[in-house]
Amino acid sequence: MGRCFPGSVLAALIFTCSMLIPVSVLLTFTTIDSTWSSIEKRVSVPNVAARLQPIHVIEDVQAAVKMAGNMRMQPEKSRRIEFMLVTGERSVACGSSEGSYVMMMSYKNKIDYCNIHGCKVWYALEVWENGFTGTWARYPLLLKLMKANPKIQWFMWMDSDAIFTDLNFTIPIRTYEDWGKKMVVPGYWEKVYAENPDWISLNAGIFLMKNCEWSHKFLRSWMRYGDPSNLASSKMRLNSFLTRPKYWDPDDQSALVYLLNLNKTDSQANVYLESGYDLHGYWKFIVDNYENITNNDKSRPFVTHFCGCNFCGRKKISADCYGGFRRAFNFADNQLLSQVSLSHLSLSSPDPLLKATSAKTSPESP
Ligand code: MN
Repeated sequence: MGRCFPGSVLAALIFTCSMLIPVSVLLTFTTIDSTWSSIEKRVSVPNVAARLQPIHVIEDVQAAVKMAGNMRMQPEKSRRIEFMLVTGERSVACGSSEGSYVMMMSYKNKIDYCNIHGCKVWYALEVWENGFTGTWARYPLLLKLMKANPKIQWFMWMDSDAIFTDLNFTIPIRTYEDWGKKMVVPGYWEKVYAENPDWISLNAGIFLMKNCEWSHKFLRSWMRYGDPSNLASSKMRLNSFLTRPKYWDPDDQSALVYLLNLNKTDSQANVYLESGYDLHGYWKFIVDNYENITNNDKSRPFVTHFCGCNFCGRKKISADCYGGFRRAFNFADNQLLSQVSLSHLSLSSPDPLLKATSAKTSPESP
């Protein structure tokens, strides 16, 4: 479950990870082409993500540098924006006990993050609206939660196959808010708004939304592509993507790219495509490098996303996926355990036994 945008189209084809649901749509859209008085511009700035992907940062480089520095510090309480982290899994048992265990570790990781950062967690196991299942289930869920919680200003969706691997990182929601953004998605501006965008120009497995009328309306437009009564029309629209397999039913990620590209003026004003840090860090580029990252290293990937692994759906999880997830989980968990001077025996160790460490050293140090 989950969708990826690895560096190359080929890789994307290999690791396509959508759980696709029958759907459709009949919408009349007008394409508005416009230039953008952008605050997102491509600047060459050294960053962890640079080893993996191009970067864009805000126009004011000084502000960007300041922001990067501030992101790892707890903002003053008055500046902090509270948000609800929403995640979920299918309503039936996973295909294997390992899958269920991975889901539990993933859930624990989200609770850990929110215990540190003060977010609320909502973990859903049900279909909240008839016809919206699989990856589409999250949209009616988000819409209903937003309306039921008007005091919660922002919401974050995170797939169950993604975990936080930098527990100290504070999401710069206040900055997005100051920029007037209503939605933040990991992706690439120049790819999403290209003449022929691809469905892997962004990743819809992790995103943030402000709880406002714009977002409610946007979620409703997005959901139309997942509405089974619009299947034929949605399919036709989404088949315009070059590398997307034509036999697929409409998927939410392609629908998002389509929608953003279709209404450029509105999207460019309200949606921020984040590639300045790993809001979606593709696991294959990350899991073998944790040992090279020290405890306070600012290069820690914020999120490691195991798209393509389909932990819960498969009867047999690939050894790479399972081993990689264990490493990611232990890497994050060690950050928490360091508070009590403990760590896992190794990043791959599944044992419940922990070892004592000095609180000052990195969890990976002997
Ligand atoms: Mn995913």
